[in-house]
Amino acid sequence: MSDLVLTLNAGSSSLKFAIFASNTPSAQAEMTGKFASIGRQPVFSVSSADGRSLDKGALATLDNTFDHEKLLALLLPWLAQHHGRHRIVAVGHRVVHGGERFEGPTRVTEAVLDELESLVPLAPLHQPHNLAAIRAVAEWRPDLLQIACFDTSFHRTQERLAQLFAIPHALSDEGVIRYGFHGLSYAYIASVLPQHLGALADRRVIVAHLGNGSSLCAMKERKSRATSMGFTALDGLVMGRRCGTLDPGVILYLMRAKKMDASAIEDMLYRKSGLLGVSGISNNMHVLQESKAPRAREAIELYCYRAASLIAGLVPSIGGLDALVFTAGIGENSALVRQLICGRLDWLGVSIDGKANSENAVQIGSEQSRVKVLVLPTNEEAIIAKACRDYSE
Ligand code: ADP
Repeated sequence: MSDLVLTLNAGSSSLKFAIFASNTPSAQAEMTGKFASIGRQPVFSVSSADGRSLDKGALATLDNTFDHEKLLALLLPWLAQHHGRHRIVAVGHRVVHGGERFEGPTRVTEAVLDELESLVPLAPLHQPHNLAAIRAVAEWRPDLLQIACFDTSFHRTQERLAQLFAIPHALSDEGVIRYGFHGLSYAYIASVLPQHLGALADRRVIVAHLGNGSSLCAMKERKSRATSMGFTALDGLVMGRRCGTLDPGVILYLMRAKKMDASAIEDMLYRKSGLLGVSGISNNMHVLQESKAPRAREAIELYCYRAASLIAGLVPSIGGLDALVFTAGIGENSALVRQLICGRLDWLGVSIDGKANSENAVQIGSEQSRVKVLVLPTNEEAIIAKACRDYSE
């Protein structure tokens, strides 16, 4: 019988999980799975370490009444049954918000759960699902070790100026600051940088996590010094459905001239903006790249223009740039996006090799590029699994 670690990543409309061996430090999961389109028609997929689809059993047919809680209640016994004699000894959760207090992975207790609950207003679309997953596991096996891993923790090393908004200080003092997100992805990239960059890994590196949610992190000594997301995961880059940086005057205009209330504005900025809003076609970069519509192209161009502008804007926080790393769905797969972003950064010494870029190679910088340019797959689950192993020892 071997011990296993389960990782859970509950998003607003998805629930991802992975199973890792507890006693080996491998970053490779033994099984990964996902429920997509929760809230509409959930679709379950599960595969083994070598990418083979596995039998879904009782989870093959799901209807639209299955929310996160119901799906977890089905998944946990399904996993136990599937793994037979092997035992889940710890569950690690991706939790979006750890506020100012949680600087690293934390064992979940009732007191911790209460504190995390108080952060729900800071991440209303994500935090409730993360906490519901923790509660579902506690109900299933009350004594099981549960570890919360925060998207905000990696950014607690930002200097104060990088965290401040220019608003009355009383608000900053009560926690209205720039937290930053995608920390588990950045922690993973930081952990593998030395393999690809040697000593340069500890110098001035910007990582672009470009997925449905997108952000940037400027690192020095592989620690976060500044990031493009702020108080919420709405700030910064253009995203699939989120607007990114927006003049706050637009929100006042929507309230006064358009008579929109907070939930209508929230819905517009979180769900109807970004690539979807600009193109009017899709939030999916791949679909936009295939489209001939001028608005699709405009959305891609805006995405890349904003990314290049914000990459340049982060350079002062680390005093220069030695390496630029692309990761996540778009960063790892879209040669066009990387080409358009890098094309606007040649003055910074960024130049890419067209062939290496089109092949999604690891090193895509051209020979004359002063800045190293890399494409690295992220692995948030591996960081969560490692945190669980560290606690289990
Ligand atoms: P999430 O934030 O949900 O984890 P991902 O990191 O999986 O998102 O990224 C999803 C995005 O990656 C989508 O916009 C998708 O279109 C894009 N993507 C994936 N493969 C490609 C590709 N070959 N070309 C362009 N975009 C791609």
